[in-house]
Amino acid sequence: MDYQALAALLFPHVTDTPETLEQRYPARNLAEGAVVTRMAPSPTGFVHLGNLVMGLTAERMAHQSGGVLFLRVEDTDAKREVPGAVEVLINTLKHYGIQFDEGATIDGDSGCYGPYRQRQRAAIYHVYAKKLVAEGMAYPCFCTEAELAAMREQQEANKENTGYYGKYAMWRDRSLEDIQAQIAAGNPWVLRFRSEGSIENQFKFDDLVKGKLTITENDVDHVLLKSDGIPTYHFAHAVDDHLMRTTHVVRGDEWLPTLPFHIQLFKALGFKLPKYVHIGPLMKMDGTSKRKLSKRKDPELALTFYKAEGFPVEAVYEYIMTVLNSNFEDWRRANPTAPADDFKFSPKKLNPAGSLFDYAKLTDVSKNEIARMSAEKVYALLTEWAKEFDPDFAEKLEAAPEFATAILAIGRGGKKPRKDLATWKEAKPYMGFFYDAYLDAPVFDEKFDKATVCTVLDKFLERFDIADDSGVWFDKVKAITEEIGFTTDMKAYKADPSAFSGTVADVSAMIRMAVTGKTNSPDLYSVMQVLGYQRTAQRIRSAINALN
Ligand code: GLU
Repeated sequence: MDYQALAALLFPHVTDTPETLEQRYPARNLAEGAVVTRMAPSPTGFVHLGNLVMGLTAERMAHQSGGVLFLRVEDTDAKREVPGAVEVLINTLKHYGIQFDEGATIDGDSGCYGPYRQRQRAAIYHVYAKKLVAEGMAYPCFCTEAELAAMREQQEANKENTGYYGKYAMWRDRSLEDIQAQIAAGNPWVLRFRSEGSIENQFKFDDLVKGKLTITENDVDHVLLKSDGIPTYHFAHAVDDHLMRTTHVVRGDEWLPTLPFHIQLFKALGFKLPKYVHIGPLMKMDGTSKRKLSKRKDPELALTFYKAEGFPVEAVYEYIMTVLNSNFEDWRRANPTAPADDFKFSPKKLNPAGSLFDYAKLTDVSKNEIARMSAEKVYALLTEWAKEFDPDFAEKLEAAPEFATAILAIGRGGKKPRKDLATWKEAKPYMGFFYDAYLDAPVFDEKFDKATVCTVLDKFLERFDIADDSGVWFDKVKAITEEIGFTTDMKAYKADPSAFSGTVADVSAMIRMAVTGKTNSPDLYSVMQVLGYQRTAQRIRSAINALN
């Protein structure tokens, strides 16, 4: 077979050579050990937690080593593409703080190794496709869908491996004349790789997450170019990651089964093989067993979910770090205020079997994260969230920023800050009562008769002075307790509740209900300080009126 003639027949328009491409995309001038890696998502319109896990892994590996992180859009599957998906992708990753040094951006490409959208790279793939054909390592296949289906059926009936290999590779050794005739008839073709591998052979391979693997050679003549001339993932992966000078490929472990083929391809093309970081799936507990997070069953897989719930980006980031590197939590305890980027991330610490995602843990991490923020920061982030997801609440927050910030400052700072909020969505149920529009009418515990409640509220109102410090304030509450025959001795009460008609806690609860409409609230003294004399007194008065 005259492979040169075949290459000229299949790719008459290709004039560039691998050498010109090597010159156009030269080796990067980086220090020894600098990691060049990428995110290479397909624009399906759905950005999930797995994208973020891989993105953060890639980002840390690149930036921690003084390397480069770039974004490549893998849009070869036009059928799956959703309009606007690239923008959603870029904006979502940006929201989570993943900064790309180069690659696809909203306004086009930035960087010298582009284009960074695969559909714009067709001419580049064809240069290498032509080279493989010219060297006898690839050939056109004119099989129809029906022929492939029949082949598969026969393989299944014979209990053989399925696929286009060995004696089933119908077009592997066809003559140039046969091929010329098909082309002349205008029949569509795909380009296949001519595999010299055998499933009898195995070799060792080192993956940065999975460790040492034993791999079986590939014997299938996989497709390199589809009939429209667009490459498969495999071919694009080899060409792009070579020309973009990727040193480390961070990707999901669903690609492990085709890794033997990728290794073969890099070799056939004369490319240096990058290092691989194959990340296991995100799992969750379902009852007592683990299963993969699923797009269909688990809304928490979508990154939009975290935004809508109002998890701060910092919390999601911290949580993912705890999932990825088991020593992150210890580091965080020892360095509570350090920027998360100071942590030394290692892909070797990733769980090879996949990480367990635990929503309760995320909530915990988020509570800690929010508790560490200043009231001003909480106000800013909460307002930003509310503008998008609860405009009515946003209006109230923005109408009186100092009031809102004072509310959010309650219990903040100090050694043991309160951990009331895990998400911004929880803020309204937590602090809404400060706003008259969200205040619930008080419902008092029926254990106490109305007259007792009224007496407590009357007495409190009589001596309420906003200038009191919390000690004086509480002494007044205790005095009222004794005056109505309740006890301030909680120990004695616990020993024999039947000996008392009530306690100081019951008295506080009555005042709390009158002022907040709730059985639970942040520190009542602080609440009154923020509400001020007029509003507090007004609320107590209306509670008394409602009781009469
Ligand atoms: N487009 C592929 C995917 O979304 C990328 C895999 C890779 O990073 O190489 O799975």
